[in-house]
This record gives sequence, C-alpha cells and structure tokens, in this order.
Amino acid sequence: MNATTEDIQQKCNKHIFGTYARFPVAFVRGEACRLWDDAGKEYLDFLSGIAVCSLGHCHPEITLAISEGARKLIHVSNLFYTYPQVELAAELTRLSFADKVFFSNSGAEANEAAIKLARKHSSDNFGPGRFHIISMKDSFHGRTMATLSATGQSKVHHGFEPLVEGFSFVDFNSVSAVQAAITDKTCAVMVEPVQGEGGLNFPAPGFLRELKALCKERKLLLIFDEVQSGMGRTGSLFAYEQEDAAPDIMTLAKALANGLPMGAMLATDEVARAFTPGSHATTFGGGPLIASAALATLRIISEPAFLAKVRETGAYLKSSLQELKERYSFIKGVRGRGLMVGMELGTPGAKFVSKCLERGAIINCTHETVLRFVPPLVAGRSEVDEMVGILDGIFKEETI
Ligand SMILES: *Cc1c(COP(=O)(O)O)cnc(C)c1O
Repeated sequence: MNATTEDIQQKCNKHIFGTYARFPVAFVRGEACRLWDDAGKEYLDFLSGIAVCSLGHCHPEITLAISEGARKLIHVSNLFYTYPQVELAAELTRLSFADKVFFSNSGAEANEAAIKLARKHSSDNFGPGRFHIISMKDSFHGRTMATLSATGQSKVHHGFEPLVEGFSFVDFNSVSAVQAAITDKTCAVMVEPVQGEGGLNFPAPGFLRELKALCKERKLLLIFDEVQSGMGRTGSLFAYEQEDAAPDIMTLAKALANGLPMGAMLATDEVARAFTPGSHATTFGGGPLIASAALATLRIISEPAFLAKVRETGAYLKSSLQELKERYSFIKGVRGRGLMVGMELGTPGAKFVSKCLERGAIINCTHETVLRFVPPLVAGRSEVDEMVGILDGIFKEETI
C-alpha cells in the first residue's frame, strides 16, 4: 500500500458511509481486461465491476458513443422523446421476447418496477388482494425496500423490518415447492435464471420451462431477473434463451451500458398495458447519453460471432478450472455457463481473493465459499491461462 492509498482510505473512512468493505487498492485507469492502481501496478480483471464492464474497460466504441453523446444532448425530461431511447428500446424488443421497455437507473429499480407492474397487472385483471410474489431462497434482487423484501437472504433483511408484505421463498430448482407455495393471493413468481449473488446456481434441466407452464396454468406472471445473467454473460444474449422458457417480465441492468448506470424492465404488450401515464416514472431513466452507450454496447454483444466467442472462452475457463479441481481436494466443484463461472470451495474463499489481488488478479467470493469469475466478455484464452496460472500458484502454496 503506498502513501496515496493510505490517504484515500482515511478520507473515505472519514467522509463516506461505511457500507462497503473495500480492498486497499485505488484504481485510476482501465483498458480492456486490465486495471491500474495509483502506484502503477497492473491487474487482470476477472470481475469486471461484477459483470458490468462486459466489453472491458474504456472500450473505444463505447467511449466514442459517450463522448459524442455528451456533446449532443445529456438529458431532457421523459416528458419528451429522444432518439437514442427509442432506438435502444426497439433493439431490445427485437432481440427478446418483449414488446415494451421501461428504463431505470439500476438493477434494483428495474426489479422495483417489475414488482409494481406485477401487482398492477393483477389488480387490473383479478381485483385487489392478489399481490403475493413467490421468490427463491438465496436469490438477490436489490437493496430498496421492495427488492430486499424480495431477496431470499435473511442477512439482507436484518434490521430493516418490517419488510414489504407479500414475498415468500422456496428452493431454487424445485417446481413442486413453487406449486405448494401458490395461494389465491399469488400474482407472480420471480427468479434469476442463474443465481449470481447466491453462489452461482444454475437452473436444473427443465426447471424454468416447467415453471413457465405452471405459471401459465395458474395465471401467474413469470419474472426473470437477468440483471447479472443478461447481456451475453452466459453465452446467449439472455440466459432464458438456453432454457426454452421466455418470461412475461424481464429485468436488466449491470452490463446494459457497459458501466454507465442503466436498468431496464421488459414485458409483453399484454402485461405492459397495466402501466399507464402516472403509474411509474423516473427522472433519469433512459436519458439520451446513457441510451447511446447502451445501444453501442448492445450492438456489439448481440453479434452472433461475439456470443459464440463468449461460449468458447467460457468453456475453456470452465475446463481449465476443472483441471485445478483434479489437483486440489479443497475444490468441491466448478460450474458455469458462458463467462459466468463459479468455483465452490470446501473452505471460505475470501483469503484466496486477497491473495489474487496481491498477485495482480481480481476475482471475488460470493456466498462465503464460491469464487466467482465474471471477466469482461472480450477476454480470451491468454487471459484465462494467466488467471488460472495465478490461482494454481496460490493453491499450490495452500497445500504445502
Ligand atoms: C446486482 C443485482 C441486482 C441489483 O442491481 P443494482 O444495480 O445494484 O441495484 C439485482 N439483481 C441481480 C440478479 C443482481 O445481480
């Protein structure tokens, strides 16, 4: 740690809420899969701002879209039209099951909008009192009051009770558990196609398809939170495409504008009709500058050749990590799809994250024991080899 890092730490502790446990590193520059700290040390980034900078840091086309957008028009109210916003919505709907988009500024806000829409749709179609939403254990949907109430992790609830009413939690991957939880008050089921914060849990074959059939039969809306799994992360533009199960409502954020804050809620026309002028709104959502950045991001990520490379690099990362598993008994399992990969350890993962950082590689640990690898989608085999080599060195020392 150098003198300036100590200075920034002190200032941070003095002036910023203590809501984050931070590593003692201050980044000052980024390019593609690399970051540099204030002492000039280089890092290989396999976290990408937690699946946010999916085109890598300061991608030239996104930087160009931002700088051109900033010269033209940064903000007007949603009382008016802007071209980037409608172009982005047209592309998102062309590329997905959805007909309509609502733009927000974060994942939590997109989920907040989805919860409101599900309640309003039910109220319009079935009358009052039918507002319960079934969510999954170990899910993560955000930190606002409604989205933390929708989150199936008690550590996120603690101290904030009373929670927003109407959420219940069942085991991920259990259709029968969802079925058993349905009452005459249920209006929707909310699920991440791949659980990110809950430890990288992938859907069992057929789970989402059966869930969709159940929702259809019981007239419930199916909400997919693709805030983390969407935008090419799992090797298809949206994770649901690999499951043969389109939702009624889907939320996006994280990688949508490659690092600028943007979220989106997408829905079919039938469901979207429940929102009318005055139902929902946000000052910044879908502003022209951010929408331009998102449009440029979406155009690159949605290219079939780009997605094919994500699948290929992802398969290589997964098999390289599986090779480590053969050699180190404390590795319990490796699971992944595209470039959303987790390594389950039989021991807490935090110290390995710190050791990686010391050696110039960035990953993180989720759900205590799962090392998470979500590199920029532009990473290739050489970056994978470098990352796995660093891990191998750390694991080797662990076993001596
Ligand atoms: C990150 C995340 C959120 C919350 O997004 P914010 O932009 O931090 O509000 C919601 N759902 C999932 C699945 C996420 O990974």
